[in-house]
Amino acid sequence: MQILHRFTGSIQQYAEEISDPNRYRPNSCPQCQTPCPLTAHGFYGRTLVDVNFNGSVRVRRYLCRFCKRTVSLLPEFALPYLRFSISVIGLFLVARLLEGRTLKAAAQAASQLGMPYQRGQFWIRRFRKQAPALSLALTPLATPVAAADFVSRALRMLESIGWIAAHRFLFSQLRAHLLGWPACLVPSGRRITLAPACPAS
Ligand SMILES: [Zn+2]
Repeated sequence: MQILHRFTGSIQQYAEEISDPNRYRPNSCPQCQTPCPLTAHGFYGRTLVDVNFNGSVRVRRYLCRFCKRTVSLLPEFALPYLRFSISVIGLFLVARLLEGRTLKAAAQAASQLGMPYQRGQFWIRRFRKQAPALSLALTPLATPVAAADFVSRALRMLESIGWIAAHRFLFSQLRAHLLGWPACLVPSGRRITLAPACPAS
């Protein structure tokens, strides 16, 4: 199971923070609810492309000794199953769909010069499909937005809420994916809880 690691800062700071297993250790199991701190269980690597980063990041994993299942702390700037960060995708979609820039100029706005145009089209396709559900799901967080269609409305809402804050809400409260889950990975709809933000000591 993936839960979100609430984090604001650079990717380098993230890497330093997660080297300490105690810092974000969940105090209870989000799957079986046993109120016992989870055991550190190493890391897995995932690739990530952000505005100023292209490489691999480590994702911290914990194990519940009772149900024997693992929990990974996905940094909240990354989307499950997508290599590109929320910031990159957000900058691209706003430039293309809200500001009407060309695919090439939108890629440039997201610092992805020379990106294959198919990648941008893939994000656009997924976002268009997801926009009506997003407009509805984000209503509790946004002030009412006047827009001609669901795509503009969802983009304006995301811009006012903040893309990462919106993702945090969608993923943690509704188990929803900002760009929609791939069909083979639609989760069971089970509610999950946020990783507790442990005070820094
Ligand atoms: Zn458990």
